[in-house]
Amino acid sequence: MATIPWLVDVLRGAGVQVVVEGDWLNRMRPGDFNPIGVLWHHTASTSSATNPHPALNICINGRSDLAGPLCQALVDYHGVFHVISAGRCNHAGVSGGSGPIPAGDGNTLMIGWEIDYNGVSQEMTAAQYNASIVATAAVLTRLGRDASHARGHRETSTTGKIDPSFIDLNVMRADVAARMAGGGTAWSSVVDNTTTTGRFTASGNWGVSSYSGQRYGADYRYADPVAASDPAWYRFNVPAAGNYRVDAWWPANSGYNGATPYIVATSSGNRTVYVDQRANGGQWRTLGTFALPAGDADRVAVSRWSSAAGLVIADAVRLTRV
Ligand SMILES: [Zn+2]
Repeated sequence: MATIPWLVDVLRGAGVQVVVEGDWLNRMRPGDFNPIGVLWHHTASTSSATNPHPALNICINGRSDLAGPLCQALVDYHGVFHVISAGRCNHAGVSGGSGPIPAGDGNTLMIGWEIDYNGVSQEMTAAQYNASIVATAAVLTRLGRDASHARGHRETSTTGKIDPSFIDLNVMRADVAARMAGGGTAWSSVVDNTTTTGRFTASGNWGVSSYSGQRYGADYRYADPVAASDPAWYRFNVPAAGNYRVDAWWPANSGYNGATPYIVATSSGNRTVYVDQRANGGQWRTLGTFALPAGDADRVAVSRWSSAAGLVIADAVRLTRV
């Protein structure tokens, strides 16, 4: 049986914050372990700044129905990697095959990150996402595998697993690939309509709804189209001037707007991208890549000024440096 005693050094070498959890070099399940990929999970536990790793104990010691350790590392709310095991863990079950990962014993084939968030009413934090991208890129480089070997449990599961929720796994792989190529810094930030501290602003003409199960987070905002300026704004603290991919998330419905204007305030003026909110809902959709200036400012808007019929929806927006 192989082990990966290099894991802590590789993570630290990539700049990932690591906490070593006890005798990680000798804590593992019996059986084969010859990993060719990395598998992302969420724990289904609700984490917070003051309770950053609620599932850590279970991931180390297991549950009554599944012996620990349950992953090689747990990723806490702040993006810290808690390294639990250098060997085989009970995280993946049977792989049905996904991308270059064949069907077979998932615990032999893959290293697992349990990212500690609940995945239903709580999304992955930006710190968790960014650290997981950096860690995945570093480990796949060490394994001599490309970014296609990063998968989500919902892709390999044969039992209907849904984790990790709220991320587009193709975007994740693109971010891993960019990191492996030495390009992007993988800085990424999400502003949802419920994000506090003034990052989302809209007038009282925008109603609040939780009607669609495709919503991001608890709810979203909606308004009738109107030939007037009444946009909902998303404010981001852009860390440095550069190129950023802008992704939007909306719940789709046949009664929503067929040509919703998203305005991006770029380094060279406003750019408008129209999306059809009657389709392609419930996941991140890329609006394009734009040059943005540094600084904390309103950066993306959803405009009501649409010539199409149907409610205009403002849910979540994400920036990712590329
Ligand atoms: Zn899982």
